[in-house]
Amino acid sequence: MDCNKKNCELAPETCEALVAAVGAANVKATEGGVTVTVSSTEQVAAVAKIAKKAKVAAAVCGNTPITVTFSEAMQKVEVVAEDYAVKAKAGANFQALIDAAAAKGLIMGAQPYHASRVTVGEWMGSNTPGYGTYKYGTAKDAVLNLEVVLKDGTVIETGYDDIGAYMSAYNLNQIIAGSEGAIGIITSATLKAYPAGVTKSFAYEIAGGLAEADAAIQALIRHPNLKPMRFTLQVADGKTMLFLDYQGAQAFVDADAAETDAILEANGGKKSDAVYKPACYKFKAVIPIANLSKSNAKMAMIVDRYTALVSSDSMDDIKATIEACGGRKACGWAFADGNIEKVHDETTSKFMRDLAGFLAEPNVDSIAKSGDKLSREYNDAIREKLVEAVGAANVNESGPERLLYCHDLAPLPKMAGIAFDNIPDVVVRPSTTAQIAAVMKVAYKHGIAVTPRGNSTWGLGGAQPAFRGIVCDCSSKFNKVTVDEKTMTVKVQSGATWKATLDACMAKGFIVGSYPSSFPAATIGAWLSTNGMGIGSFKYGSAKDNVLDMEVILSNGEVLHTGYGDMGNYNSGLNLNQFFVGSEGTACIFGTVTFRIHPMGVIHPLAYDFENLADANPVIQAIIADPSIRPLHIAWSDHYHFEHQKMAGLHAPDVHNLLLVTYQGQENYVDMEIAVTDEIAAKFGGKRVDDAIASHEWDERCYEFRARKVGIGEIPAEVIVPAKTWGKFVDECYTGFGVMKMDIGGIIGVMVDNQTTLFMPYYFKDDEMMTGMLAFAFNMYLGDRAEVYGGRSTGYGIFFAGNLDAAHDANTVALMRELKTFLDPHDVMNPGHLVCGMTKFGIGMSHGLSSFMFKMMQTIKKLMPPEHNFENNIKRFKFNKYTEEKCEDRKHVLGRGYE
Ligand SMILES: Cc1cc2nc3c(=O)[nH]c(=O)nc-3n(C[C@H](O)[C@H](O)[C@H](O)COP(=O)(O)OP(=O)(O)OC[C@H]3O[C@@H](n4cnc5c(N)ncnc54)[C@H](O)[C@@H]3O)c2cc1C
Repeated sequence: MDCNKKNCELAPETCEALVAAVGAANVKATEGGVTVTVSSTEQVAAVAKIAKKAKVAAAVCGNTPITVTFSEAMQKVEVVAEDYAVKAKAGANFQALIDAAAAKGLIMGAQPYHASRVTVGEWMGSNTPGYGTYKYGTAKDAVLNLEVVLKDGTVIETGYDDIGAYMSAYNLNQIIAGSEGAIGIITSATLKAYPAGVTKSFAYEIAGGLAEADAAIQALIRHPNLKPMRFTLQVADGKTMLFLDYQGAQAFVDADAAETDAILEANGGKKSDAVYKPACYKFKAVIPIANLSKSNAKMAMIVDRYTALVSSDSMDDIKATIEACGGRKACGWAFADGNIEKVHDETTSKFMRDLAGFLAEPNVDSIAKSGDKLSREYNDAIREKLVEAVGAANVNESGPERLLYCHDLAPLPKMAGIAFDNIPDVVVRPSTTAQIAAVMKVAYKHGIAVTPRGNSTWGLGGAQPAFRGIVCDCSSKFNKVTVDEKTMTVKVQSGATWKATLDACMAKGFIVGSYPSSFPAATIGAWLSTNGMGIGSFKYGSAKDNVLDMEVILSNGEVLHTGYGDMGNYNSGLNLNQFFVGSEGTACIFGTVTFRIHPMGVIHPLAYDFENLADANPVIQAIIADPSIRPLHIAWSDHYHFEHQKMAGLHAPDVHNLLLVTYQGQENYVDMEIAVTDEIAAKFGGKRVDDAIASHEWDERCYEFRARKVGIGEIPAEVIVPAKTWGKFVDECYTGFGVMKMDIGGIIGVMVDNQTTLFMPYYFKDDEMMTGMLAFAFNMYLGDRAEVYGGRSTGYGIFFAGNLDAAHDANTVALMRELKTFLDPHDVMNPGHLVCGMTKFGIGMSHGLSSFMFKMMQTIKKLMPPEHNFENNIKRFKFNKYTEEKCEDRKHVLGRGYE
């Protein structure tokens, strides 16, 4: 090629380098630059490096001097049906994914409206609503893994191809998706796909206009089960039409149609034969759905229960709509000049631009040393500033108080504390976001470590200080919960417990999407910060998937608003709603969070008994494979679990191995789901037990470890593995108990989503002897075994920070470490955790060191005699009246608090 043609602005040596990287035939001169056709990720990386060196931009679309296009090799599509996933190169046409998935009985969740004109890379770069968004979210919600070439040519992977990215440090999946190319070039994507069933279209004509349609829409969005793929209102030719597509098993689609008929009939709607015809309007706005009737739109896509994307061919209509409805202009190119600033406050938009800039070219050289000269010494002057920030009554330096706050639930001997400076200088108890921000400002200025803390139930030392400093106790006074049933949201301060939040929602007929089984004590901010999995995750995702907006307090005390309290954050720049999850207190403190909540209907637990636990595998796999049944929760407990409860004198059902499947929603739907599940279970030998047993197990879902009553250490080894390996991994757990000579407690666990399953085999441990610590070797052993299946241990905290290097490739880990410096240049946010486990002696808990220690523990444990802690303790344990009362006291009815 001749670079001098067509006014090419690139230097000849840049063109030559491009030719060397991809071959002369793949470099074409265009007006002002070149188009480079790439055939591999390596070539994209080479092009990015050349562009960086030449100080010019390279991108897939846009008017950049180097335009990257994908050859046929970069258009490959592979459906991995057993993972409910489609792996596609970025250049693939999205329609090719839809077709390939359909051929295997699957459907892509969110789809671009003009799928044949959009590539995978373009769709993944957008955070714009599409077909299926009401049911499955946007492109970002489909991501399992993205391969991305950053602007400096570094290649990273954001997640995993066959398992969810829970508890795996900073959440890169949903920050790259939707970043509109601002961060780098997506070269490949692994996306979730769902069992398809059938899809049917329905149309209704509504007497009147938007105002009349509004009542019907409000009724539809309040239905606990209706989740259309298309949910579109059109006002044209004097008619107001509502178009809905339902997808799933035939019987469920029929039920959706019948429910919709009834709702529309009650609201002046008449079924119509009209067929939806795509209309392309030039101008769009995102508005809160509550204000839809005030809009001036020709068309409205109902995007979720909170948001409408309205469009018109007149910009004046859109401007009037935005003014009347409190919305914002929806456009791609949020990063173009000034657009982000129009839809976010000054602090948030600046942060967004800085973050995009950093992620595109992660280089922290200029800020890494900015904290070097800080005193990092807590003293009276700092105490005074903290008193100014939160009031004297909320600053506590007393010895016993500081001792209480020097650890979390981990049953470690006192000696373990010697490795860390884990006794804080001071404990503060803020009650507002502004107070937390004020504390952070003081800490930032002087370089004092701040450990955010909820109720310290995690057990990985996340809330244990590593370098003294300030413990920020969020749970004591920062725990207000406000439910708004009209908007279907709950606004909650991050120190509130999940139970308080759930109770408040249930009292008004709603549930929160998901919560940890430790919900009586676990706090909102902490579970967000661990990006954990729990009850309800199978149906509603994890905590992050239900966030509408949150205040995020940064290390320097600045406060961001990640979204909007009354509508989704579509088309508004980077997706900050989900960015900070998984950061384990090292990137921010969560302030007040606004969550979506869900109309409850009924909750109906069922239980099936199996001779052997592994026999439940075909039932679990068939439930996952069904296009319509969607349990709120799937959990299991094996026979050891029940036997030990009985031995401990607790009530336990007479069953072998129990699979608990809980449904939630409108009663007629729940009945249908139960019928399908009964049929599946019967086919594979699962015996349905009395509902009273199922209800008992559901009620006890937060007391899994109740055999602890005999006064013994009861520790779960928590790992996740791909869902498809469930049956095999049950056997692995039993084998592992034997190999490691454990005192078996039982095997319990939950299904997290179609790709992910969480196993928590637990064991009894001697808490009195130092040698009891060796039992922890089982956790390392099981983590190693999980890796063989494509899984991993979860969470890092202080003790497992070294695992980060095993959980991601080197480039991605390096990016995460630099991200920590970018977000916290003075290293004051929970230092010594997650990305840099560090003892007070400056010894890093590196992967090499910790894996050597863990291997050694395993070897010694295998040489020790088998343990019988449970039986021994039963013989010598006295169950006193006080403990009896404590057990009685925890009997409660959800929604009504303790009674
Ligand atoms: C019996 C039992 C059952 C459990 N079940 C589950 C389960 O089903 N799923 C699951 O994921 N986990 C589970 N856990 C682990 C633990 O309960 C959860 O991680 C829970 O979210 C911790 O809440 P906490 O308030 O006790 O947090 P803490 O232990 O106090 O803190 C945990 C982490 O969060 C950070 N943090 C706390 N508050 C904030 C804030 N406001 N902003 C930023 N960071 C913050 C801390 O620095 C720390 O790193 C269980 C634990 C037990 C003992």
